[in-house]
Amino acid sequence: MMTPNTYDAEPIPEAARIEVDRMLQSGDLFRYTAPQDAPVTLLEREFADLLGSKYALAVSSCSASLFLALKALGLPRDARVLIPAFTFAAVPSSVIHADCLPVLCEVGNNYRIDIKDFEAKLKQDISAVIISHMRGHTSDMDAIMALCTDHNIPVIEDAAHSLGTTWNGKNIGTIGKVGCFSFQSYKMVNAGEGGIMITDDPDIIARAVIMSGAYEHNWAKHFTGPDVALEAAFARWQNQLPLYNLRLNNLSAAIIRPQLPELARRVRDGRANHDHVAARLNRSPWMQVPENLPPEQRAPDSIQFNLVDMSEDETRAFAAQAADLGVKVQVFGLSTDNARAFWNWRFIPGEVPELPRTKAMLMRACDTRLPARLTRPELDAIAEALIQAAETVMREPARAYGT
Ligand SMILES: *Cc1c(COP(=O)(O)O)cnc(C)c1O
Repeated sequence: MMTPNTYDAEPIPEAARIEVDRMLQSGDLFRYTAPQDAPVTLLEREFADLLGSKYALAVSSCSASLFLALKALGLPRDARVLIPAFTFAAVPSSVIHADCLPVLCEVGNNYRIDIKDFEAKLKQDISAVIISHMRGHTSDMDAIMALCTDHNIPVIEDAAHSLGTTWNGKNIGTIGKVGCFSFQSYKMVNAGEGGIMITDDPDIIARAVIMSGAYEHNWAKHFTGPDVALEAAFARWQNQLPLYNLRLNNLSAAIIRPQLPELARRVRDGRANHDHVAARLNRSPWMQVPENLPPEQRAPDSIQFNLVDMSEDETRAFAAQAADLGVKVQVFGLSTDNARAFWNWRFIPGEVPELPRTKAMLMRACDTRLPARLTRPELDAIAEALIQAAETVMREPARAYGT
């Protein structure tokens, strides 16, 4: 069977198309035109309720929400922010954008933060932490929260790619002080672009709302019910903060809202798909899918696996073979200018740091998309192609290298 296209998203629900059409008729696209209950405001309420947090602020991207979260913490210029060395370039970029300095921490073979290195670096004058649940892989949040609470350091969760993942039954993004999510097309909920942050802290949300572009008294349109603490916070920050204008528009909210009820199904199907393919890959001697940590229930829309006992040449040959068989595999550390390889983040001041464990992982960690909409035969075709590619490279090297 042909391997499926793994880049196409699911169709947007019909309800969104009706609402978008209504908006195009009225021209009501700006979140602050209506006196209350604009689609963006309703999305924020629904998202906060869905995740179980007090407040949400929808913005133009997850990157924007990470930036606003750092600004809302009120960090001084050049504050040091600890981030994992395996993440998307958006994370160190948000730190730089907030006039802070990223400090990189080692990530192990299982794509999760190396807690020993995290603990050591946390003592190096760190003012805030961003935990990136990269591709939905959740680091040991119990250990991280215990250490950060001890040192009184706020935690921002980059849950861009982890919507629907739980840790000890609690939604990822609600464990730290702020959680940030993405609505970019490759994530669980697709609006093309968009992001949202959640928090229980009225001062953080008030500061972020104002800086996101709620000029004058537009913050008043963020209320969906009485909230004395939030009103007091807005009064404290009125006219005190610059406006960065990172708002979401009503069209995006209309596209997102009808997808929220689909989330549970996407998570369930994505997990079943992932576990089905993982079990097959793990039977190959050349591939290994790391286990999740016991408190984690994943919500994957892609699969990551490590190549076992393959040289760099064999790794390249494997990716080429898989592509020939119709499956695109990205080896994070091998593809040119990859945005998830820390040595490509040259915009960080200073030398590229020595992070041997993360580097070794990136050189053999493979990434393949596995959207929730795939059928069993399509999943089997992907697994078969990957297994076949590894067999060809490792058992018939002459053919694989094309000599
Ligand atoms: C996609 C992604 C981001 C960036 O999200 P945008 O909405 O595109 O800004 C940040 N972190 C991780 C882990 C991501 O997967």
